[in-house]
Amino acid sequence: MFKTILIAYDGSDHAENAIKIAAGLARTHNASLHLVHTPQVDTPHIVIGSYVSLLETPPTPQQIEEAGKHISDKATATAKALGVELTQVHLGSGAPAAFVLDTAGKIDADLIVLGRRGLGALGAMALGSLSQAVTHGAKCACMTVL
Ligand code: ATP
Ligand code: MG
Repeated sequence: MFKTILIAYDGSDHAENAIKIAAGLARTHNASLHLVHTPQVDTPHIVIGSYVSLLETPPTPQQIEEAGKHISDKATATAKALGVELTQVHLGSGAPAAFVLDTAGKIDADLIVLGRRGLGALGAMALGSLSQAVTHGAKCACMTVL
């Protein structure tokens, strides 16, 4: 049923679960598995892996790129440990929700899998802001996972 599955990934435990669930679905449906990540700069914090590091000065474009690479490497390792291969890792810049939706359109995804919350999970809302924006704007099925 599903042919192209897109995982939105921010390095959080929820996003790790999104990989696990998407990997199972990809195997069952013989679907290709894509992953999208946009490094988030919350100056002067920068998210590196699943923790937030304090920087003295605003991060440089190179540091942002490195943070993105670090997170996508973690995702690739998780997928590998699960015995699945990511067809493509899409690294974005700018607004992360828009990049998830754009990428879903470009690859003609029929399912987006993402965490219900992410790295900002201390907030009061039931859904994170990216979860809300993507489930609202997606032109295909979305699965939010715990
Ligand atoms: P908020 O960011 O609104 O404070 P949050 O971090 O708890 O709240 P979201 O950012 O909506 O919640 O994260 C929900 C899910 O969206 C994550 O588990 C992940 O699957 C995906 N996601 C979050 N940020 C990104 C990102 N920068 N790039 C790709 N996917 C992301
Ligand atoms: Mg977030």
